[in-house]
Amino acid sequence: MAISISAPVRALMRPSAAALEPYDPGFSPVEVNLSANENTYGMPPEVRERVQAALAEVCVNRYPAPLADGVRERVARWHGVRPESVCVGNGGDELIFNLFLAFGGRGHVLVNCPPTFSVYRLYAELVETEVVDVPRDAETLLPDVDALVEAARTASIVVICSPNNPTGDVMAPGDVARVCEACPGIVLADEAYGEFAPAGASAEPLLATHPNLVVLHTLSKAFAFAGGRLGYVLADPSVVGALAAVRQPYTVDSLVQAAACTILDDRDAFAPTIAKIVSERERLSAALSALSGQGVRVWPSSSNFLCVRVPRAHEVWLALRDECSILVRDFSSTPGLEGCLRVTVGTPEENDRVASQLARLTKEVRNG
Ligand code: PMP
Repeated sequence: MAISISAPVRALMRPSAAALEPYDPGFSPVEVNLSANENTYGMPPEVRERVQAALAEVCVNRYPAPLADGVRERVARWHGVRPESVCVGNGGDELIFNLFLAFGGRGHVLVNCPPTFSVYRLYAELVETEVVDVPRDAETLLPDVDALVEAARTASIVVICSPNNPTGDVMAPGDVARVCEACPGIVLADEAYGEFAPAGASAEPLLATHPNLVVLHTLSKAFAFAGGRLGYVLADPSVVGALAAVRQPYTVDSLVQAAACTILDDRDAFAPTIAKIVSERERLSAALSALSGQGVRVWPSSSNFLCVRVPRAHEVWLALRDECSILVRDFSSTPGLEGCLRVTVGTPEENDRVASQLARLTKEVRNG
């Protein structure tokens, strides 16, 4: 069902909101959905059972714990920080939004490294934050760290998505440190996909020495809880205070809190799936790289998705969806990602299916 805004209603809106269109994640019912970087394996069955048992115990006649203290304490213990350094939100998206509410706005500047996750610019603009882009290299898709450090000197917020969605690269913690040291404002390291990256890739160890660093995590990806909506940030207690000041008190409901506590208690049970996704990523990457003769290019990824350039990408995307019942994400009209699709790494069967259909379709568009 299409959602639209009529002209008279648009005229009533604040200008920064009137400039937007309702978000359309582009979902269609398909057999193989590799479009949203979810964990297509789902939870390990024993965790799923424990989550269901925990949900049955929840009393929803009472409001939830406003700051989700049970979740907060578990996250703090896991990451070796104090609970005061943790803020929990209704998905990472809400925390990003709250960060712009608290630290963005008129007279404030976001420094962004496109192509990257689109919501940074979206939320910044919604609260009337100026956006300064430091574009990634057209060829390697890597950020220009020196230019980023320079731009950071006048930023209110710098966002470093690492691994970056949709290009898959990690920014070295040493480079994140340089940005933190240059920036008088807040530096958000969005590590939503951090669990798929190699050891040592996280900026988290910098938290102790860089009080302007905020590290974002989510249970949506590695922990197969995208439908539950739970994200968290690790930051200086004072920055957590600023986020707590702007947040709505009850956005993380009691059911989600109960499920998240169980997932966090059982988080080691997810390790085999995470390892499997990483090994499948390499296998899928090799299968697609083998199509270089058909004009296919794959960038290295430290995440649970691959950025793939294919000839006639939009046509290929449509054929995957309509002929093969496979949904991937079409970035071919995003500046800097011309011809690119983003393929989430799925189960071995899903990966075989998308690789063989991409092989067939890229051969066809080449010959046709
Ligand atoms: N950061 C990045 C880079 C993402 O790709 C996403 C989800 N697409 C999020 C944050 C937010 O995830 P969630 O709101 O599901 O926690």
